[in-house]
Amino acid sequence: MENLPKNYDPNKVEDKWYDYWMENGLFEAEVDRSKEPFSIVMPPPNITGQLHMGHALDNTLQDILTRWKRMKGFASLWLPGTDHASIATEVKVVDKLRKEGIDKDELGREGFLDKAWEWKDEYGNRITNQLKKMGSSCDWSRERFTMDEGCSEAVKEVFIQLYEKGLIYQGDYIVNWCPSCHTTLSDVEVEHEEHEGKLYYIKYPIKDSDEFITVATTRPETMLGDTAIAVNPSDERYKDLVGETVILPLMEREIPVIADPFVDSGFGTGMVKVTPAHDPNDFDMGERNDLEVVKVIDEDANMTEVTGKYAGMDRYECREEVIKDLKEQDLLVKIDEHEHSVGQCYRCDTVIEPLVSKQWFVKMEPLAEPAIAAVKEGDIKFIPERFSKVYLNWMENIKDWCISRQLWWGHRIPVWYCQDCGEVIVRREEPNECPNCGSSDLKQDEDVLDTWFSSALWPFSTMGWPEETEDLDFFYPTDVLVTGRDIIFFWVARMIFMGLEFMDEVPFDDVYVHGLIRDAQGRKMSKSLGNGIDPIEVIEEYGADALRFTLITGNTPGNDMRFREERLEASRNFANKIWNASRFILMNLEDFDYRSIKEEDLKLNLADKWMLSRTNEVTQKIDDAMERYSFGEMSKSLYDFIWNEYCDWYIEILKERLYQDKDLQAKKTAQYMGLKILGNILKMLHPVMPMITEEIWQKLPISDKSIMVTSWPSYSESEIDKTAEEKMDLIMSVIKSVRNIRNEMKVDPGRKIEAILLAGSSKEAILQEGESYLKNLANIEDLTITESLEERPQPASTAIVEGVEVILPLEGMVDIEKELDRLQKELQDVEYEIERAKGKLNNEGFVNNAPDELVEGEREKVKEYQEKKDKLLDRIEQLKLN
Ligand SMILES: [Zn+2]
Ligand SMILES: [Zn+2]
Repeated sequence: MENLPKNYDPNKVEDKWYDYWMENGLFEAEVDRSKEPFSIVMPPPNITGQLHMGHALDNTLQDILTRWKRMKGFASLWLPGTDHASIATEVKVVDKLRKEGIDKDELGREGFLDKAWEWKDEYGNRITNQLKKMGSSCDWSRERFTMDEGCSEAVKEVFIQLYEKGLIYQGDYIVNWCPSCHTTLSDVEVEHEEHEGKLYYIKYPIKDSDEFITVATTRPETMLGDTAIAVNPSDERYKDLVGETVILPLMEREIPVIADPFVDSGFGTGMVKVTPAHDPNDFDMGERNDLEVVKVIDEDANMTEVTGKYAGMDRYECREEVIKDLKEQDLLVKIDEHEHSVGQCYRCDTVIEPLVSKQWFVKMEPLAEPAIAAVKEGDIKFIPERFSKVYLNWMENIKDWCISRQLWWGHRIPVWYCQDCGEVIVRREEPNECPNCGSSDLKQDEDVLDTWFSSALWPFSTMGWPEETEDLDFFYPTDVLVTGRDIIFFWVARMIFMGLEFMDEVPFDDVYVHGLIRDAQGRKMSKSLGNGIDPIEVIEEYGADALRFTLITGNTPGNDMRFREERLEASRNFANKIWNASRFILMNLEDFDYRSIKEEDLKLNLADKWMLSRTNEVTQKIDDAMERYSFGEMSKSLYDFIWNEYCDWYIEILKERLYQDKDLQAKKTAQYMGLKILGNILKMLHPVMPMITEEIWQKLPISDKSIMVTSWPSYSESEIDKTAEEKMDLIMSVIKSVRNIRNEMKVDPGRKIEAILLAGSSKEAILQEGESYLKNLANIEDLTITESLEERPQPASTAIVEGVEVILPLEGMVDIEKELDRLQKELQDVEYEIERAKGKLNNEGFVNNAPDELVEGEREKVKEYQEKKDKLLDRIEQLKLN
């Protein structure tokens, strides 16, 4: 039998098995109606992306689920793909071109798109190749890209159908504008940060009067676009002012004072300026009160023509000028320091400028309604449940979705405008002439769609929609969406309403939301902090299996976790432990033919029955944890069972039978059981650590198939043996107790000792049954198991465990004189430490001035040393009884 090499080297193994699975088409899902379907669509990473810990976690979880279901006999599909990431990619390509001295606008749309596709071909697969390194068992034959032909077709179809249903419209709207990226941003793409700013109090003269009103603003430059002053209708102070006219300083324009419930009476003076063109709340107020919209800031964040002397100035430069001019006219009352939130572009951190422009929108209310119901009625379940509130809260307050973006890389809006009569033509194919006036002078809308428009269709566009495909019929809806909480709004919500609208069915049954991977100190991993850990580097050092195991250790739904290097080492040690156990089993298989064994011919002993029973229980526990997405619980069960029970106990117990040739039937049983349990352990571990389990599995004489297509261990009630478990528990407790005493007494591990176990009749019988385990595992030579004892050996060390008295005569186990000397010396050291700590605590200077935790630390020390001293005195007493 070929054995495993002495040491496990993941680098020699992992790629080999990934290639093997790919070459044999083992990831490819089949529409097999004799099986139940299981499907997941991968949240498509951006083509600009590089694998980070978040992806690594996300993909590990999806792979675990997919591999588990596949082994359980489901027709399992994990559908991968990438997202074109409109804005992120365009920014990258523009940057690259700029470095080459090429200007995007000079290049023109077509030329730029060629460059963008080139960029995609060169870098777009980086992240998918990294996902392969993780061991992801996705069906790459079905890989999709949001801008591939089929997905683009789906996007067009959805746009047109929504337009025809009246759910897409064009309108003037205040949008978040990034003056640097030159595009609109959705609300969720704007990041809000607290800034140290200023609050300017400005006087506006009341018309035909010597009086003024005072308003407070953080952005005085926008006053040039004010079209009203507003107060709260219930604000008694200003009741008489409503309906008056004031003169807008610097512009000398007349504007009305209006009443609007939006105004917060507690802010500033309780009077606010209204600039509908540059503030979303003011825009709404303008709509309600029919105010004029005066645009004073343009798309480059410069002042427009209407601002007169300020025209062309940058918005911040203009702010300085406006303040200067107000001061000169004695219209500036005061400037306060004022911390307030400022919206920034999530791509480039430029302060966004709210602007009014013509955009395309999706009308949300009719789409949100069924999407809210689907979650409320339980058709879609969030795990953990608390995230359904986040979702519902957003959906219930949803605003129309601005879907046009002033970019080139993306799905171009399928709308043409007649240059002669202004007709708006929405078509699947490019029209030749205007249906209204027959003109052939048509121009397509310049904008592309929001990147999330195409990813919202991902669960069905990837399966071939709008065609009626077998995949859609069989695999849709998908079973679970695995995702981070940061894209519940961006993406999850939108997939839900699009799925309901176009498939009449939810896109997934469950939404599993995982937390963030933080650094060891609990900080978010970020570029600016430089505390990110590159999964690929981790894989090179520890292997993907170890990384995967680490990522799910302690993982609970929805909660963040800290990533610690020690955990990786622990995972690597775990892999080595399994490796060594497997080597041991393989080493002892000469002349053994697994497939010729009939289970009924085996002679199972107590430990075998215990192990079978425990294996079954663990199988059930893991299935149960997996059903609840409790990955951390699952990995803990596996770890504890494999490390403690199988490796540390069962294998040790097997040795007695494996190392002898007198009873061949017993030997065969041990060989068979060791191997069979190992096989099941590898299967259960496979979804988490796919590579090492395949490497070992392929060496085992159990099956010729890849482990990933073998069947998952099934729970068998008949193999549960509670009696065997109770017996083994008692025996193991006694062994542990003997080992403890040996440890405390510093007995040489190789030294065989004498032991007496005093127990009632039922326990005595159990101990008799486990006599050989006791002897071998506690290294006992002379073992007496008895119900009564005439005379107790003196001196002896004793312990009581589960009603069994463990008596270890010291004679022959330790050199009593030497041990006494050692204990006396230890006692002196401890007493010295106690005096030292007490001395400190008696020193008032220390107690009063040292930090509390230091003082508390000294008190703890005294307590600990005191306990140690008591124990030592006990032991010395025991020895002296001699
Ligand atoms: Zn930007
Ligand atoms: Zn026309």
